[in-house]
Amino acid sequence: MFPTVPRIVMKFGGTSVADIDRIRAVAEKVRKQVASGCEVAVVVSAMSGVTNRLVGYCQSLSALHDAREYDAVVATGEQVTSGLLAIALQAIGVDARSWQGWQIALNTDDAHGKARIGSINGGALIERMRAGQVPVIAGFQGVAPDGRITTLGRGGSDTSAVALAAALKADRCDIYTDVDGIYTTDPRIVARARKLDKITYEEMLELASVGAKVLQTRSVELAMKERVRVQVLSSFVDGPAPTEGSLPGSLVVDEDEIVEKELVAGIAYSRDEAKISVRRVPDRPGIAAAIFGPLTAANVNVDMIVQSTGADGLTNMTFTTSKSDLARAIQALEQARGIIQYGELVTDDDVVKISVVGVGMRSHAGVANTMFRTLSDRNINIQVISTSEIKVSVLIAAEYTELAVRALHTAYGLDAA
Ligand code: ADP
Ligand code: ASP
Ligand code: MG
Repeated sequence: MFPTVPRIVMKFGGTSVADIDRIRAVAEKVRKQVASGCEVAVVVSAMSGVTNRLVGYCQSLSALHDAREYDAVVATGEQVTSGLLAIALQAIGVDARSWQGWQIALNTDDAHGKARIGSINGGALIERMRAGQVPVIAGFQGVAPDGRITTLGRGGSDTSAVALAAALKADRCDIYTDVDGIYTTDPRIVARARKLDKITYEEMLELASVGAKVLQTRSVELAMKERVRVQVLSSFVDGPAPTEGSLPGSLVVDEDEIVEKELVAGIAYSRDEAKISVRRVPDRPGIAAAIFGPLTAANVNVDMIVQSTGADGLTNMTFTTSKSDLARAIQALEQARGIIQYGELVTDDDVVKISVVGVGMRSHAGVANTMFRTLSDRNINIQVISTSEIKVSVLIAAEYTELAVRALHTAYGLDAA
């Protein structure tokens, strides 16, 4: 039998449950959603700052700590919040019960620290919801095939929420956070960023993957695959429970649901970048394989790549990785120096990647050129460029982050009136 009442998954991020008062305010939001006639399941993050502190504890004991024990430690943040919110709900007369990943079960693979969700048994949760109880689920965590606790990677509660919305066949997944929607760029660095009523799955996926942390990349990937309607909205604004007819936040939707498509949907930046140049390498067939082979073997993810060859027949290969991969990349390249035969290795982690994203790029030329011209007008040097069908990214010095994002925001006509 299909549910006859709307079923909503409500997810609350770290700042939304930062202290006891915030948890009370969240309980009140959940109460209103239930009172509006919906079946509700809630997913919570750890209280803000808690996960960072737990990660810090693990690192201070051992830089090379066991990933299974890391998961046992960092998953506790969400366990605390799920219990506290269940208590807060019960205190205002809402029937509620906390659920940990293993109790559901939310099954993942065994890639501890960045596990992927395999299957979710929604049966027990659906039964409880039909009986009028609100399950309060600890986000970010699951259970590996051997029964041990796993976590889904930083920001992973978004993915828990979307995966649960799919498993519970929810009508909508509402992601409550500290901003009131998805903006044309991070509203914390551009005051004139504009809130988007709707954005396509594809654009949101691309924006998330290049640094817009409002949604975890994997959650958007999953929403797109499972056709989950996702709304991003603020937990800090009071108001009636959202209904299909009046959604206060931003909706992530299919392209055909957007009537007026903009050329550029948004701009994102990522500070988690490091640049490596392998200089003065003999330019011969197989050189890219000689450089990137050892990096792959060392589990280093490479993002942007540029190669330039001089008149002397020597070539420079420049590429980017995440800051956390930099040390391993250097080690791998130094070990392979005899095979690659490079002159020197130069690194720089004082860089930022700025990306402009929009499905309109498929049919319109000139987006990249506007980006290059805007940055050159501000005297900002572009170090590396990469493009995809709906995205252009450039690597620049980190000190120009705000200046570049603001200038591009204006150049593409995205500023709020
Ligand atoms: P939560 O703890 O609720 O999961 P996050 O900190 O993970 O919240 O994500 C919300 C933050 O994402 C906002 O505070 C904002 O600074 C940032 N952000 C980055 N890009 C965007 C964007 N395009 N639109 C909205 N917020 C963005
Ligand atoms: N608490 C986890 C983190 O800080 C998961 C999340 O908030 O989504 O990464
Ligand atoms: Mg988040």
